[in-house]
Amino acid sequence: MQKILIKGGRVVNDDCSQVADVYVEDGVVKAVGPNLQAPAQPAGIQVIDASDKLVLPGGIDPHTHMQFPFMGTQSKDDFYQGTKAALAGGTTMIIDFAVPQKGCSLLEAYEKWRSWADPKVCCDYALHVAVTWWSDKVKEEMKILTQEKGVNSFKMFMAYKGVYMVGDVELHSAFSQCKQIGAIAQVHAENGDLIAESTKKILSLGITGPEGHELCRPEEVEAEATLRAITIANSVNCPLYVVHVMSKSAAKVIADARRQGKVVFGEPIAAGLGTDGTHYWHKEWSHAAAHILSPPLRPDPSTPDFLMNLLANDDLSVTGTDNCTFDICQKALGKDDFTKIPNGVNGVEDRMSILWEKGVHSGKMDENRFVAVASTNAAKIFNLYPKKGRIAVGSDADIVIWDPKATRKISAKTHHHAIDFNIFEGMVCHGVPVVTISRGKVVYQSGLFNVAPGEGRYISREPFSEYVYKRIRQRDEVCQPVPVKRAPYAGKVISTALK
Ligand SMILES: [Zn+2]
Repeated sequence: MQKILIKGGRVVNDDCSQVADVYVEDGVVKAVGPNLQAPAQPAGIQVIDASDKLVLPGGIDPHTHMQFPFMGTQSKDDFYQGTKAALAGGTTMIIDFAVPQKGCSLLEAYEKWRSWADPKVCCDYALHVAVTWWSDKVKEEMKILTQEKGVNSFKMFMAYKGVYMVGDVELHSAFSQCKQIGAIAQVHAENGDLIAESTKKILSLGITGPEGHELCRPEEVEAEATLRAITIANSVNCPLYVVHVMSKSAAKVIADARRQGKVVFGEPIAAGLGTDGTHYWHKEWSHAAAHILSPPLRPDPSTPDFLMNLLANDDLSVTGTDNCTFDICQKALGKDDFTKIPNGVNGVEDRMSILWEKGVHSGKMDENRFVAVASTNAAKIFNLYPKKGRIAVGSDADIVIWDPKATRKISAKTHHHAIDFNIFEGMVCHGVPVVTISRGKVVYQSGLFNVAPGEGRYISREPFSEYVYKRIRQRDEVCQPVPVKRAPYAGKVISTALK
């Protein structure tokens, strides 16, 4: 285990910043304070000068799909290359999704994803598990996953009809069980029935290119499903987390619900904050297809700014990526039919830089809010805090040294993804990760990696996250409806017997 002394940086947590040194040993932060002296045997200590730099908790990307088998192929970034890309961007933990097919065991899906990820991950990770169908067995397995496997979040798809989609009754059952076992329910919010119908219409009009993808799932179907999910979750007092909020109208629905006091969290993603859906009308097919994901980027070019404003002001809570990369030959499965283009884009490497450029450099949020939406809030919601998401004595030594003044130009030529296209190509971002420390070891510095596959660990998460469940519990206690006490009706009752 490395011993590291980070000198003279500005340590930024979500609630305060201070100029301080940070001492790391055995993978854990041992001391934070001004002018720390290195303990004995200084030869064994790596000293890093962080003057004029920020020292941040490593980023947490709560939404990735590494080596995901999907739409007849598998996403290109595997758990090795994907987590390397994450580290290069300052992200030291990902939460991926184990997604069983309909009718299949959730536990088996979990074990399968573990077997893929454990030997490959270069940073810590956890797993959400998807509920793609409903039965007593699913219900029981959710409980086992929560109590024995460290899973405290379950995702339901309201889209991908016939594949992953579940209906309102199944949502109600899944949300009820999440509530029972202390998990947080997550939804992919789009109206899958409407999309299926609109798709027939768009194809019948002779529209087979990538623009058809957005045309058959306009933002109304996202906003409608978002409101429906919130309504169902609230009816059983279950906390809800809406993944990849892509449109202004869906974001407004979440903001309204939060202002009504509902326990709901919204996650915009790097793609939605950094670019827009005008690309679907690009003349070059491969360029347009490379931007396909669901819900789609929105053609309204004011969308990214709008989402960032809501993120800055706590209407939205965290930032993910939905990193699910496919190269152009894979995208070409849908060259004659947009419905066959594998859904997914990059994001895990550039998320924090996009967020800094569009959020902090633009003056919308400060460095503390940046840490909150890049790391701390995800740690709190998914019950990893304060081991993750904070620099304090006892926290995991997942740290990024961040140069807020430096700039870098995003390009597929220099990124660390397994594909040769980057949806943020050419964007110049302030905010550059200079050194990334994962599990107390310098894993990335000045463009060079020092990682080995399998060095990351699976992180178990306890149920009943305080951040989410304190309000839920209290509501259960005080908000139950009670019957009105009244004298029994003593009058006459008509006979209902049929003559
Ligand atoms: Zn996803």
